Amino acid sequence: MRMSEDEAFATFAMLRWPDTEGEAVCPHCGHDKCYLIKTRRRFKCAACRKQFSITSGTIFHSAKLELRDYLAVIALFVNAVKGISALQVSRDVDISYKAAFVLLHKLREAIDGTRSDITLSGEVEIDGAYYGGHVRPSNGGREGRKPSKKRRKKCVLTLVQRGGATVTKVIPSENTDDVLDIARKHIAQDSVVFADEHGAYDVLHARYEVYRINHRWSYSDGIACTNQAESFHARMRRAEIGQYHRISNRYLSQYASEIAYRSDRKRVDNGTVFSEVTEMALATPASRTWIGYWQKRAV
Ligand SMILES: [Zn+2]
Repeated sequence: MRMSEDEAFATFAMLRWPDTEGEAVCPHCGHDKCYLIKTRRRFKCAACRKQFSITSGTIFHSAKLELRDYLAVIALFVNAVKGISALQVSRDVDISYKAAFVLLHKLREAIDGTRSDITLSGEVEIDGAYYGGHVRPSNGGREGRKPSKKRRKKCVLTLVQRGGATVTKVIPSENTDDVLDIARKHIAQDSVVFADEHGAYDVLHARYEVYRINHRWSYSDGIACTNQAESFHARMRRAEIGQYHRISNRYLSQYASEIAYRSDRKRVDNGTVFSEVTEMALATPASRTWIGYWQKRAV
């Protein structure tokens, strides 16, 4: 059963302005005395007199859907543990493919924006895998040519705290500089790190207690394994093949963040995750990438 537009409005208000229990706060000046112009579902600030809507300044701003459509899309997105395609969303909510496509990307962008300050500690697994890129169709003599830089697969470096959170970073390939930078930023100093035998991880020995695994000899010796990081990559791979078909390099970071977020929240109930994703979306400013996206592409 679908929500009414009034119910959706109340839900949005509670999640956008939790500190005032759903009472509007002016996005222009921060004043919390605002009047609702009922007929237009807009607010007017008593201090600066400016008008705003419930979605002003958020990723939902300027999109033309009804509020309850947004909430229906977020609910589908949250319930689909393995990810969901824009085509499926457009069918289920009965909105255009373009609207579904942009909205899903905005949700991923909102999630991505909240994941840059995570610090991992205790036992941390680190592992890289390659995604995206462009597979050149075989055409005689040109086969085997190296794809251009833009089209090469990229590495998603994944750090998983055992029993804790996941951090993902897109890098050109596993290399010493990026591994060290990312570890410094996201792994607390007294952590124990587990990595495979790739030379890029050698640099970690100077900073952490590190255990290495050689996949050719033993898949898991019980101590030095990277099973959790690998199962993240297995989920990512399944989403790439099953839901997204092809992950463009440009959005690889957002897709990785979506899957990391899902993986970190897999034991949290859907209602809580729904509120959290909606709150993140309402706290994320309108994105330049997605304003007039289809109009720009049409030119
Ligand atoms: Zn104001």
